[in-house]
Amino acid sequence: MAVRSDEGRIHHAIAQAASALAASPFSVALTGAGMSTESGLPDFRSPGGLWGEDDPVEVATLTAFRRTPEKFYDFYQRRLARLAAAAPNVGHQALAELEASGRLGAIITQNVDGLHQAAGSRQVIELHGNLREAACPQCQWTGSIRLITEALGAGTVPACPRCAARVKPNVVLFEELLPQAAYRQAEDACRRAAVLLVVGSSLQVTPAAWLPQVARQHGATVIIVNDEPTPFDHVAQFVLRGRAGAILPPLVAAVQKA
Ligand code: NAD
Repeated sequence: MAVRSDEGRIHHAIAQAASALAASPFSVALTGAGMSTESGLPDFRSPGGLWGEDDPVEVATLTAFRRTPEKFYDFYQRRLARLAAAAPNVGHQALAELEASGRLGAIITQNVDGLHQAAGSRQVIELHGNLREAACPQCQWTGSIRLITEALGAGTVPACPRCAARVKPNVVLFEELLPQAAYRQAEDACRRAAVLLVVGSSLQVTPAAWLPQVARQHGATVIIVNDEPTPFDHVAQFVLRGRAGAILPPLVAAVQKA
């Protein structure tokens, strides 16, 4: 039966989830935008999230990139400025520590902010691309995101140095497919995992939202850390309700002591 923190048993639930992680030969984390809110980066769907400020259809779709590039670039210019001021938080650091001690095999992330890597995590599977790079949808050129920040800063349109088409950040937009190799790697990791630790994802965007079920169907213990319910809480043996920055440090400390 699932142990839920909203039943007032948070310490007990953290201890039990830590035991599962300590006993696991191969554990994997799946993270979402809630991982980075404590770094000052708003998530998408919470109150105060990005979709409260902007309509995703107007700023985060391939159609928007093609038809209304000024709105699209304005959205990304604001995201990139926020990211430039952001640093990993204690939750990112706790996961990096777990990997460094050999108790976390990989992080699958829906985030494009690179904060796991900045915290020292090495095995990071990026499902939705990243904001380090610019990409040309026309000729598939990729290069540094500086091409975009510098062009926008100068008031010009970011153009591909190879084919002159408009370039976008190397993130997966709505209406685009996920990088297939990354998704296969993520699914494979979830099939092999004895524990899947899901942190800060509303689990509303597929196919990432299917991964907890994939892991569970292959025998994994699923732990969900989130500050609100998700549609897949029933799949988890442990639902730790609260902020990632409050739960991950004691969880990881308990794993290291076990
Ligand atoms: P989300 O905003 O849907 O969910 C974040 C979840 O984390 C929420 O349930 C929230 O309650 C929780 N949360 C927030 N702060 C928390 C904290 N400190 N501790 C614990 N929980 C916290 O984000 P998601 O699940 O990552 O969304 C899925 C993905 O969809 C995104 O990561 C994004 O990559 C992708 N997406 C991309 C675009 C785009 O721009 N191309 C557009 C929309 C969605």
